[in-house]
Amino acid sequence: MIEAQGQHPFLLSTASPNRSQRRLAVGIVAALMAAMLLSAPFARLSLPGTEILIPAYAAAALLVELLTSALLFALFSIDRSRAILILATGYLLSGLLAIPWALSFPGVFTTLGLEPNLQITAVIAAARRLGFALSVLAFALMKDEKDWDRPRKASGHAIVGWIALVATLTSVLTLALALRAENLPAFMLNTREVAPLWHVVPAASVGIYMTSLAVLWTRLRSTLDLWLMVVLGTLLIEILLISYLGGATRLSVGWWAGRLFGLASASVVLLVLLSETTALHAQLVRSIRSERLARESRLTAMEALSASIAHEINQPLASMVTNASAGLRWLDNDVPRVGEARSALERVVRDGHRARNVVNGIRNLFRTDTRERVPIDLNRLIEGVLLRTEEETRLRRVSIRTHLEGALPVTVNPMQMEQVILNLIANAVDALSSVTDRPRIIKVRSRSGEGEVLVTVEDNGLGIASDLRHRIFDPFFSTKPEGMGMGLMFSRSIIEDHGGRLWVADNIPHGAVFHLTLPCNAVSDIRR
Ligand code: ADP
Repeated sequence: MIEAQGQHPFLLSTASPNRSQRRLAVGIVAALMAAMLLSAPFARLSLPGTEILIPAYAAAALLVELLTSALLFALFSIDRSRAILILATGYLLSGLLAIPWALSFPGVFTTLGLEPNLQITAVIAAARRLGFALSVLAFALMKDEKDWDRPRKASGHAIVGWIALVATLTSVLTLALALRAENLPAFMLNTREVAPLWHVVPAASVGIYMTSLAVLWTRLRSTLDLWLMVVLGTLLIEILLISYLGGATRLSVGWWAGRLFGLASASVVLLVLLSETTALHAQLVRSIRSERLARESRLTAMEALSASIAHEINQPLASMVTNASAGLRWLDNDVPRVGEARSALERVVRDGHRARNVVNGIRNLFRTDTRERVPIDLNRLIEGVLLRTEEETRLRRVSIRTHLEGALPVTVNPMQMEQVILNLIANAVDALSSVTDRPRIIKVRSRSGEGEVLVTVEDNGLGIASDLRHRIFDPFFSTKPEGMGMGLMFSRSIIEDHGGRLWVADNIPHGAVFHLTLPCNAVSDIRR
């Protein structure tokens, strides 16, 4: 989902409307226009006796507008935009005014002993129309304002305050109207027909609606903006039917049609807003869930990272300590043996570099953006690693046989790849250490085929017990007293990160064979 204004993408007031929402909105307005045109020829037809339906209509309008205002107040409590607060208040005012409007409607509640006054209903109707229209205009003008940066509690207080204010205003207005009925402006000629003064109300409303519509059109950003435009379109159709096509005569076909279309579309808008709120909420839940998963796996990666740093650094550190102690001993001799001390120190320097390289390699593994990959010949890299391990393997009486085929062009991080090969060789050497009844042999082979290169490292050591085979790539799994159990996990993650695979099989008749594949480049890519 596109984020509007760089804020929460999960709110009606900030999520951008998608194409199907736009289509539905246009569809609703088009359907209403068609309905208006269909009812236009009969608009002036009078429907006497239909006052009886007024309470039902008012109750429905009250319900829809209160629910919409509740939804908007809830939105305000999160979004804290003043524009939404005003819009919610407008809906609340319009909903609450429906009560005195219905109660004062001539001929509706006469059985209750209410004495209807011709003008009261009209004044309430005018207040309802204009009040709501002004709240929409205020919303349209203020909606791009910065959010209210007061604390959450303050937004709760604001909601309660505004609800109390609107409720008081409605009651005071109703009371004042009832008490001063004789001084009211003459909006009505009789119970059915309006006086010329009334025409100001629909004209002013149309003016305000059109202005709001234009403002929203030019600043259309959120789903709420879109549906508010539908509401405005509906209200314009409603006014057109009631005040113009219906001849401004109460209880005519046009008068009823306008109200019912208005109510139907307000309900549709409410349903759409509700379902979109639910959909956005579901999306939020999904996103929180996947973020949590990502965080958990990031944590595992962090643990793996720290463990692998310890593992990969320990080896050169141990070797540095050994060589530095040896160097000191050579110098402490009665006749200091400078030559030996010097080569011990050189080994310290070499191991220091190695440790630093390891740290850089690990850092690169987790920093995907800065990872440097270069085209190389994998066989030359393998030869380099074998050269470095020569002394160690000779000391441990292990012979290494190689069968490296031609040039193997791959694009890799050379440091990481060296660590993988080194790790496989070191594991093979370890696996051979207890072999005494046969020559200790490691075979390293490589070849290319079908868009990938294949490297195998095989030893004739102890092999891997079948019940342990699925665990050796797990972090911290080790059968060695000093082992950290990070090497294979680390190697596999490097290889998979390069688009390859690393797996193990039994070597016949003894030992294990590790297979490694990597995607292959064109030979011309190799950097020499
Ligand atoms: P470490 O070497 O610290 O134990 P590794 O992740 O490199 O960690 O290896 C995990 C385990 O896999 C080793 O402890 C060993 O049991 C097993 N393993 C790895 N390579 C071989 C091999 N070539 N032969 C037999 N066992 C092996």
